[in-house]
Amino acid sequence: MPQSPSSSHSGATGSTKKRRSTAAQKFPPRPRALAARKEVASQICEALARLYPDSHCALNFRNPFELLVATVLSAQTTDARVNSVTPILFEKYPDPETMAGAKRMELEEILHPLGFFRAKARSCQGLAASLCSEFGGEVPARLEDLITLPGVGRKTANVVLGNAFAIPGITVDTHVGRLARRWGWTRHTDPGKAELELAKILPCDDWTIICHRVIDHGRAVCHSRKPECLTCPLAALCPSYEIYVGLPFSSSRSHNLSPGES
Ligand code: SF4
Repeated sequence: MPQSPSSSHSGATGSTKKRRSTAAQKFPPRPRALAARKEVASQICEALARLYPDSHCALNFRNPFELLVATVLSAQTTDARVNSVTPILFEKYPDPETMAGAKRMELEEILHPLGFFRAKARSCQGLAASLCSEFGGEVPARLEDLITLPGVGRKTANVVLGNAFAIPGITVDTHVGRLARRWGWTRHTDPGKAELELAKILPCDDWTIICHRVIDHGRAVCHSRKPECLTCPLAALCPSYEIYVGLPFSSSRSHNLSPGES
């Protein structure tokens, strides 16, 4: 497992803070040739596999319908909070038909702990109704079909494909987008464009698990506002290390762990 985030940045100087604020706007250097970018990405992916051998989808589900609904519900809240309401939700509404016919107020009451419960109840029922009317009450296993459902974009569709149907998908959520930019995998902030770039350099069979590992690294170490570069096990491979720390990795810390040594 990776090092826990340390407090090594807590005594940041004004100049360090300034570096951080400008770092987010800078792009790290990256190879021009696609083959070279693939090679660099592959080294990071190998390190991630060693660091996060148990990565998996953090949402609990038993079938594609449950994962689809849980993923839609996870907007603007945590996976843990979604997991706390879905057992009650799916006990009462186990399939699209029952959810589409639910009494709105009862659905809202179950979803209340998630926030935005009225909008989420509306989304769930719209989604369930479309599954019934357009897909015979089944969750389709094609991206083209999934994204026709109300409230379902490519990110949600790829989560469902990758985790419920074992069809590889790249999920560009906030963590994957941020880390992909820090690693030079893409410069796009648009998730759809980033997904296309990542698809060119990451091995297709591993798209789903790589995204889980990237998300785990984003949650544990490579935070949005304060990436823990000084204790990051990927520092030696990361082209953004120098941007955040202000010194090349080789000259800034001889004590850093190499990937796989944590
Ligand atoms: S060194 Fe680690 S924490 Fe810092 S930007 Fe790179 S991956 Fe993120």
